[in-house]
Amino acid sequence: MNCPYCGHPDDKVVDSRALKDGAATRRRRECLGCGRRFTTYEYIEGAPLMVVKQDGRREPFDRAKLKGGIVIACAKRLVASETIEQMVREIEEQCYEKEAVEMSSAEIGAMVMTRLKAVDEVAYIRFASVYRRFQDAGEFRREVENL
Ligand SMILES: [Zn+2]
Repeated sequence: MNCPYCGHPDDKVVDSRALKDGAATRRRRECLGCGRRFTTYEYIEGAPLMVVKQDGRREPFDRAKLKGGIVIACAKRLVASETIEQMVREIEEQCYEKEAVEMSSAEIGAMVMTRLKAVDEVAYIRFASVYRRFQDAGEFRREVENL
C-alpha cells in the first residue's frame, strides 16, 4: 500500500477495526517514510459497498469515479489537489462508517455538494446543476466541458 502523500511503499498499522459485522476492516496506517496517517478499507470479496443509482442500477462504490467527478467540477478553479483528496477521503470514510450495505448516489452527491460549497462556489454550482440531472460520469464530463 503506497502512501497517498509521498508514495512510500511501507507503513505500519496503528489501528484496526471491524465494520459491518466483520465484512469489512478499517485500518489506520502510518507511513514509514513521511509519518503521515491514512485509512484503508478492506472488503471480503463479494461484499463491497453498493451504490444505488437513480435508475435503480447498482454498482460497487468507486473511489476513482467519485474523485473524477470532483476534479471535473473543480476544473480551472483554485482548488488544491490536496483539498480534493481530503474531500474524497472524508466522503469515503463517511460512506463506510455508515455501516450500510447500500447507499444511493444522491446521498453521496449530497456529501460532495456540502463540501464543495464550503470550498468553491463555482465548483459547487457546476457539480450541483449537473449532478442532479446526470448520474453518469461520462455525461457529466461532457456537460461540464461545455460550460
Ligand atoms: Zn508518506
